[in-house]
Amino acid sequence: MKVMKFGGTSVGSPERMKNVASLVTASGKPTFVVLSAMSGTTNSLVEVSDYLYKKNPEGANEVINQLEKKYMQHVGELLATDEWQAKTREFLAEEFNFLRSFTKDLFTSFEEKTIVAQGEVISTRMMVNYLQEQGVKAVLLDALDFMRTDKNSEPDLSFIREHLSHLMEAHSGQQIYITQGFICRNAYGEIDNLQRGGSDYTASLIGAALPAEEIQIWTDIDGMHNNDPRVVEKTEAVRQLNFEEAAELAYFGAKILHPTCVQPAKYAGIPVRLKNTMDPQAEGTLIDNEIEHGRIKAIAAKDNITAIKIKSSRMLLATGFLRKVFEIFESYQTPIDMIATSEVGVSMSIDNDSHVGEIVDELKKYGTVSVDADMCIVCVVGDLDWNNVGFETWALDAMKSIPVRMISYGGSNYNISFLIRKEDKQRALQSLSDVLFEHEHK
Ligand code: ASP
Ligand code: MG
Repeated sequence: MKVMKFGGTSVGSPERMKNVASLVTASGKPTFVVLSAMSGTTNSLVEVSDYLYKKNPEGANEVINQLEKKYMQHVGELLATDEWQAKTREFLAEEFNFLRSFTKDLFTSFEEKTIVAQGEVISTRMMVNYLQEQGVKAVLLDALDFMRTDKNSEPDLSFIREHLSHLMEAHSGQQIYITQGFICRNAYGEIDNLQRGGSDYTASLIGAALPAEEIQIWTDIDGMHNNDPRVVEKTEAVRQLNFEEAAELAYFGAKILHPTCVQPAKYAGIPVRLKNTMDPQAEGTLIDNEIEHGRIKAIAAKDNITAIKIKSSRMLLATGFLRKVFEIFESYQTPIDMIATSEVGVSMSIDNDSHVGEIVDELKKYGTVSVDADMCIVCVVGDLDWNNVGFETWALDAMKSIPVRMISYGGSNYNISFLIRKEDKQRALQSLSDVLFEHEHK
């Protein structure tokens, strides 16, 4: 069975919902469908909660009423028969009355989580109603019946597997199984969620639990691009990525997939395919365990990086120096991204500069410290196993006219990163694309 997940814009209007319905039924085979809330809805529900925290029920009611009006309009556009329109309106009326009921009582994060969960509850009900009206054998499996997190707020895969398999058995013979992305229950049985954007995570967890033959993540772009299309000319969609390559890219603002999202799929060995709802024929990007040897896949960049260098002759042949340095960053909850060391100094990059001042103060106990702000990490991702020859040279050659503050290579088999000034980013990305993909096309 395939899992197909559709994001907010893919179900953003009745027309788009109908499009999703035809995509999920096209194969005629049993398919598991995960839906986000219609685009904008989760944000509106967060706004409702915000008003309620601020004890402004009028503000909350206003947002709820607007939302209700919009949804009631969708009914007539989505459903054709009086019977299904009436059923759906009745469901929506109940939902919105439920939302309004929160404006009367004490408001805590528990209530908030219940409220933000309703976007997915609504979108999935509308979709299953539409499919059933079309005569498709479709069933809605409530995510709150099987998606669980444990006491550490990590998904409880064995619980999910067990409960999902019972539900699948109880509803065997259906063509379409639909569930809500994003929402779950926590270890105490309370309504919770997998964080904003968490529907991808839901799809990956379900794919691993079933297990599915493939997990498809449908968005409105044609997969991952080999460079930033906003900065560089003539970028192309990447056809295939190894899970590790995808994880490397995820840090660099390739917002399509969060690295933790693909982990369940990766461990279960299930391929993840990124597809475009606006162009379903396009191949998209396949993420799996294969490694395409000798290929550079993509170039990415991350802005707002700060480099911190600490230099000390005490570092020479000393043990424990790096530990002390790292502990300072840890005590300020500041992750280090790139590192370069020499015998007498170490440079590190961070992208969270909220504690730079304190970190620098403490580092000064151990050596001379300097800081470079407004930097940018440029990263080349692909088969960069150290036994391969050539790619490092080409990458360095592409950077020959750009001042490079740090280089990191050999940390994994999949990346080489450069730390440069923000103002050199465009030039660096273009030059890397020109040089590295030029070699590719030869
Ligand atoms: N609807 C949720 C959000 O907007 C989850 C998702 O779309 O993945 O964050
Ligand atoms: Mg998303």
